[in-house]
Amino acid sequence: MKTIIEPFKIKSVEPIRFTTKEERIKILEKAGYNPFLIHADDVLIDLLTDSGTSAMSSKQWAGIMDGDEAYAGSKSFFRFESAVRKITGDKFIIPTHQGRAAEKILFSILGGPGKYIPNNTHFDTTRANIEFSGAEAVDLLCEVGKHPEQKADFKGNMDIEKLENFIKETGVENIPLVMLTVTNNSGGGQPVSMQNVKDVSALCKKYNIPLFFDACRFAENAYFIKKREKGYENKSVLEICQEMFSYGDGATMSAKKDALVNIGGFLSLNDEELAMKCRNLLIVTEGFPTYGGLAGRDLEAVAQGLEEVVDEHYLQYRIRSTEYLGEKVVAAGVPIIEPPGGHAIYIDAKRFLPNISPSQYPGQSIVCELYIEGGVRAVEIGSVMFGKYDKKTSELISPPMELVRLAIPRRVYTQSHIDFVAEVVIEVYKNRDKLKGYEITYEAPMLRHFTAKFKPVK
Ligand SMILES: *Cc1c(COP(=O)(O)O)cnc(C)c1O
Repeated sequence: MKTIIEPFKIKSVEPIRFTTKEERIKILEKAGYNPFLIHADDVLIDLLTDSGTSAMSSKQWAGIMDGDEAYAGSKSFFRFESAVRKITGDKFIIPTHQGRAAEKILFSILGGPGKYIPNNTHFDTTRANIEFSGAEAVDLLCEVGKHPEQKADFKGNMDIEKLENFIKETGVENIPLVMLTVTNNSGGGQPVSMQNVKDVSALCKKYNIPLFFDACRFAENAYFIKKREKGYENKSVLEICQEMFSYGDGATMSAKKDALVNIGGFLSLNDEELAMKCRNLLIVTEGFPTYGGLAGRDLEAVAQGLEEVVDEHYLQYRIRSTEYLGEKVVAAGVPIIEPPGGHAIYIDAKRFLPNISPSQYPGQSIVCELYIEGGVRAVEIGSVMFGKYDKKTSELISPPMELVRLAIPRRVYTQSHIDFVAEVVIEVYKNRDKLKGYEITYEAPMLRHFTAKFKPVK
């Protein structure tokens, strides 16, 4: 087979700025050892997130010019609405400025004290919005999904047995909805199988609980289904997406992921009464229902992006470029979540730095070193992002995994950029004995990873 090439030509370029190692050591110290606080200009290859970092196509940029900025009834809204509906099949399509705005609206209405919302794994903003409403966010990921070294095709699946037991123990009346995150971002960008979607859906129907998708990476998930699940190899990605959404009652979406835009999101649902409540809240917090916190041009770009993302040449290149980085670092012995997920490589910091305990944030240590070594910016997904303190003993309660995510922006970097990243990761791995743990010197009460400050442990 021939090399899988980037399925696009480059029409516009943005220079990146080189820094020296000495400069980066100072920059990192000034940022409190938190890459979120580094100026992007000081980063060479930015793998902090795949969110809102996509390169838009020439047609999306043309859509930006063509966007209709009418306050009410903009033609860009109707193009957006039909593009979303073509994929989800839902009746009510509500634009929001990001995924979390859709979450905030949904959980303000369905959440609240005494409620529980299960998911395979809640993403951090989803969890925060649920907890902010007073409800509890519950993760019921399948067992294999919790073991980075175990290979399986669908490590993002919900544990069906645990879900049914949870429903029985908690009571249907306390579970306003069940969610499924496709692909499972916090669990390594791992896909959910169509069979699992069907099983979760059947269980939800049995107990009469609505099922919502956290649909940020629906197209990447569908591509994995096409490649890995029997019976789907000859279906188009669009057909697979449509089938998946047909098993649910709605979705929250960050268009900053699989809609290939820099800002946007939506809430998509079928229940008319709930949709009306959501729209009323939307008007208070986001804007009129035909723009919902976005400009007409943004809606136009989302509509175009949703058409482009289900293109199978694009998805083949997308999934392969992530896998390519994974293969390179694994060949050098670097422990990662295997097999690689769709949008990112997740380094297993527990195996990378077995001598640094979770209370000294091994993931943060790797993230800092990647920046110093090569100006590569990654993010910790472990005890910094998800750590909590025991209410009585104030001891740190760590999540099951300590990970470092190298998220790959869509259509932004070429193969040589990715080769360079692999070289940096491998260099840091070779020097792993010299890495130190970190302690937190400042933290906010919620979503602390965005603003926390650290210092190396002596
Ligand atoms: C990014 C993301 C969100 C939140 O979307 P924003 O647009 O960043 O607000 C929710 N869930 C998952 C799985 C995500 O990846």
